[in-house]
Amino acid sequence: MSDDLYRVKGMPEDEKDDHIVRAVALGGHVKAVAIRSKAIVSEAQKIHNTSSVVTAALGRFLTGSLLIAENMKNEDDTQTTIIRADGPIGGMTCVCDSKGHVRGYPLENDVPSTYHKPGKLNVGAAVGKGTLTVIRDLGLREPFTGMVELMSGEIAEDFTYYLASSEQTPSVVALGVSMDNSGVLEAGGMMIQLMPGATEEDIDYIEKRANGGFPDITFLMEEGFSPAKILDLFLGDPGIEFTDAYPVSYHCPCSKERMSEGIAALGKAELEKLSEDPDGIETQCHFCNRKYRFGRDEIKALLNN
Ligand SMILES: [Zn+2]
Repeated sequence: MSDDLYRVKGMPEDEKDDHIVRAVALGGHVKAVAIRSKAIVSEAQKIHNTSSVVTAALGRFLTGSLLIAENMKNEDDTQTTIIRADGPIGGMTCVCDSKGHVRGYPLENDVPSTYHKPGKLNVGAAVGKGTLTVIRDLGLREPFTGMVELMSGEIAEDFTYYLASSEQTPSVVALGVSMDNSGVLEAGGMMIQLMPGATEEDIDYIEKRANGGFPDITFLMEEGFSPAKILDLFLGDPGIEFTDAYPVSYHCPCSKERMSEGIAALGKAELEKLSEDPDGIETQCHFCNRKYRFGRDEIKALLNN
């Protein structure tokens, strides 16, 4: 196959830039989505100053959240994913919009790393036991909320289980973050989904590919494979059809105005108390750590609204 096949419509000019690519295969019975998220995970590591195991956990969580957010269509759709668990990280929250933006934070950023074996961070131990919640706000009257128990806390398995049990979509999800002392080397993932109409044969085929020792995503990326090439390698279907691609990035839309809405929501009694402090208050955004200062007069103004 020529490399032109991998120049998918919507892809960033430099395929090394973070993006998602989508394809269909096996006669339309399989949807396949892959992502490179190296810059996103590096940015999250920088913002939250995370230790290795937290970088891996949060990086996988941001990457997986973007993968399952790929089907949001409307301008204002958002998806919030939340892990609450009893491991030392405590939990993570991540928000995606329909424009490929993601932001997230861990409850604890500095957790000592343990390993399954040399070089294999034990993310499951750092996350622990708990739940994965997905809230999709698609502009309908009620947001859709699904919650599952964590399977292993290794994140990819947890998303797989969520998709199968909460959204009735049998899927294969793989996620990876690799790093060394200098920072994040590669990050990415893929999601393979069986569409309605998939035959027993299709299911067998995908299961065999998934269980056949397919290499780690980050290994392939380090070897120069783009997300599109990884999908092609995994599916092994000459009829694969790449439908589109789009850039993804870490982006926090916070502003002083949005913050003031949060403060106003504290209620009258709390605002009155805050307005007595001559220094005013300073709030910090969980997602990007930007700080916002509100003087006494500004708090009083919120009281009068
Ligand atoms: Zn922010």
